[in-house]
Amino acid sequence: MLQLYNTLSRRLEPFRAMGSKVKMYTCGPTVYGYAHIGNFRTFITEDLLRRVLEVNGMPVIQVMNLTDVDDKTMRGANEKGMSLRDYTDIYIKAFFEDLKSLRIEGIAHFPRATDSIESMLKMIQKLIDKGFAYQAEDKSVYFRVHAFKDYGKLSKIERQSLVAGASERVHQDEYSKDNLCDFALWKAYDPHHDGPIFWESPFGRGRPGWHIECSAMAQDFFGPTIDIHCGGVDLVFPHHENEIAQSECCHHAPFSHFWFHVEHLHVDGKKMSKSLNNFYTLRDLIGRGFSGREIRGLVAQSHYRMPLNFTLDGLMGVRSSLERIDQCLDRLKNYEEFGQEDFDTHSVYSMFMDAVNQDLNFPQAFAVLFELVRDVNKVVDQKRISLHAVHKIMQLFESLDSILGCLKKDEEPIPQMIYDLVDARQLARKEKRFQDADSIRQEIYTLGYELEDVMNGTKVKKRHQCNIQKSTVTD
Ligand code: AMP
Ligand code: ZN
Repeated sequence: MLQLYNTLSRRLEPFRAMGSKVKMYTCGPTVYGYAHIGNFRTFITEDLLRRVLEVNGMPVIQVMNLTDVDDKTMRGANEKGMSLRDYTDIYIKAFFEDLKSLRIEGIAHFPRATDSIESMLKMIQKLIDKGFAYQAEDKSVYFRVHAFKDYGKLSKIERQSLVAGASERVHQDEYSKDNLCDFALWKAYDPHHDGPIFWESPFGRGRPGWHIECSAMAQDFFGPTIDIHCGGVDLVFPHHENEIAQSECCHHAPFSHFWFHVEHLHVDGKKMSKSLNNFYTLRDLIGRGFSGREIRGLVAQSHYRMPLNFTLDGLMGVRSSLERIDQCLDRLKNYEEFGQEDFDTHSVYSMFMDAVNQDLNFPQAFAVLFELVRDVNKVVDQKRISLHAVHKIMQLFESLDSILGCLKKDEEPIPQMIYDLVDARQLARKEKRFQDADSIRQEIYTLGYELEDVMNGTKVKKRHQCNIQKSTVTD
């Protein structure tokens, strides 16, 4: 049974979902620049978590919002003289490309905050009606923090330090526990800073605060209560504390049963961040010859509740560990002289899953994996295992990779020449020259690729050059 650390209770707890699918909300990127690999530490870990839940028989609906309206996106768009949508589109597109390189998949919905303004306004109105929010003289609407008796339950702040009253309010989205006071739900329009970006509302022109965005988007997809809410540890206060306050006061129901937080990626002991200018984007690292797979491997080998210090040497270390796995898999694929022995894949899988299910103990899970690599290399050297055992081991690697997502090499791009041959074969088939079509297919096969005819065309993929997985060519 999967045990996870719940920030709300500060304890390990068995994870269970309320319904047949896990409702998982993950705070996504603020799209005013390329995400850095600190951000991706959190997003990769959330992808690992989603895979672990699914392997444990709990299908997941994961929602990741895109924060496309806040101080930073507005400043960026105004500086460039672009519309907010056009400006943030650039970084959203780049973000999706980065997710693909990092093999982060399976996220069901990516709502943009600017598409949910209506539901934010409804929530704010509800909070005003219930006495949890008020419009101040500056025309902004604030959440009345001292009115919510559970305020502080996630970040464990002292309620005595709550400042009630009109003079103490925070207008900015990010602030420290020392500035604890009423926070903005709706920020009144300031022509000087906001330029042409604003929304009309019953409270006057303005734009939403950052915290209400996530409360509204989570509610739009999942209703009042979700199973698990995720983000980096910097979000515990004030963002997640404020999300709880808004959602629970609005719906009178628990907001999230589980709170999952990922520790930071550091550089020289400090959080990697844009403001400290100590960050690498994925693009920076790809430019230096690293791959998304290697960065995923680096994150996967760490424990998510421990800070991870980033160095290029560390990344080189990950590269050689992945190469060891590649070599082992290549040897299995090319293994020819079979013996009689079986291989106990079952107990390796159980040990791996035991580690993973103990609060995502991936360092331990990788220790099991590297032990497996050593053992496989040994039996391959001695030519002891049977063909059946080789199949089982390959299957085991597949299963482990369905969680880790970094064991397979990157697919090499398919050369244009192969696509040209595929087109020629299609034409031959259309013209009923079936012998020609067959011989083109054979030529493609000899060049190392294989075809699969699907509903609306033909799929081409690299052929395993492996004597145990030889594909048959039939038409
Ligand atoms: P942002 O784009 O700043 O809204 O952040 C997106 C996500 O990245 C949030 O979950 C943050 O908590 C997380 N994050 C930001 N910096 C780091 C870091 N250095 N290490 C790990 N996660 C981070
Ligand atoms: Zn959020």
